[in-house]
Amino acid sequence: MLSHMGHNDGTARRLLAWYRRHRRALPWRAPGNAGDPYRVWVSEVMLQQTQVAVVIPYYERFVRAFPDVAALAGAPEAAVLAAWSGLGYYRRARALHAAARAIVDHHGGALPLSYAALTALPGIGAYTAGAVLSIAAGQALPAVDGNVTRIVSRLAGRHLTPSAVTAQVHAWLPSRHPGDFNQALMDLGATICLPRQPACGRCPLRGQCAARAELPPLRPRSHRHQVERHYALIRRGGRVFLRQRPARAARLSGMWELLPLPAAPPTPAPLATLRHAITSHAITASVYAAPVRGMRGEPGRWFSQDQLADVPLTGLARKFLQAALGWTLTSTSAPAGARSAPTRVPRAAAASRNSATPSAPPGDGGSRRRR
Ligand code: SF4
Repeated sequence: MLSHMGHNDGTARRLLAWYRRHRRALPWRAPGNAGDPYRVWVSEVMLQQTQVAVVIPYYERFVRAFPDVAALAGAPEAAVLAAWSGLGYYRRARALHAAARAIVDHHGGALPLSYAALTALPGIGAYTAGAVLSIAAGQALPAVDGNVTRIVSRLAGRHLTPSAVTAQVHAWLPSRHPGDFNQALMDLGATICLPRQPACGRCPLRGQCAARAELPPLRPRSHRHQVERHYALIRRGGRVFLRQRPARAARLSGMWELLPLPAAPPTPAPLATLRHAITSHAITASVYAAPVRGMRGEPGRWFSQDQLADVPLTGLARKFLQAALGWTLTSTSAPAGARSAPTRVPRAAAASRNSATPSAPPGDGGSRRRR
């Protein structure tokens, strides 16, 4: 345990008392759900790199479509990706699906409640295993992510290595309610100990915090590579032409997208221009109306709006269909609450408006945990 970090019992007591009064009401914490390892697992995977407000409607729709491990394991991958479509970071959905199948094959359909067995499953690392086992099974395991690292570093007054943070949280963890303790840290990082302007006056740990006034400098934002992309919107009757990305594509394999163009056509003007973030790339993407002959020789299919409801679309294709055609896609795909209103806007205005939409999902890649 680090020096001047407060008495272990005192830290846990203060955090738990604060959590009982200020915990966020979230669907996976509702009575009946909090002890369900499957629901905790799904919520934790969705929360990786994604804000709570974005996750909630996706989570509710996902667990309605796949209420347990067996339902998820038995679903075709396309249905799982369609339910995830718009949430981004699709390898999370693929790993969730693969893990569900492994749980059915090797653990009788119930999430194994041991750290070794959980972390042997696809997509489950130390954080997710700690969260699931502490919240759903009462095991005193830490769940350390970027938010927790920030809190503990500020309490210590200096940047700490992940292993030092994990050791400190381990030392604080109470034997009773370790899941509440981990969730208290998650909520503290999301609502009080914010990256830029921590509300130290309302923090239950301010009495033991070394950095209240003088915060350690935050890690500088990584520079994003600016990329331009262009796509063709080909329509016939009430349908659009889409192509499926190759099964061996490094990213978004098997998902459906508009036809990419090698460059911006001289005419016409784009129907819409959007900003889209994928890992270290900031993409400015434009979509252009193109004639039917533009798809000659391209492998793909025609889809009506209704048919697209259960098709795994890339996040960018989904945004384009909303922005250019006003299509809202219901059923098991993107939840209505997470969609922005359809727009048909000039290029420059579209770029800035979409990049500033607060509820926009984070795109198809990235690395930061956002709760
Ligand atoms: S006192 Fe301020 S900086 Fe310290 S843990 Fe609390 S919110 Fe974070």
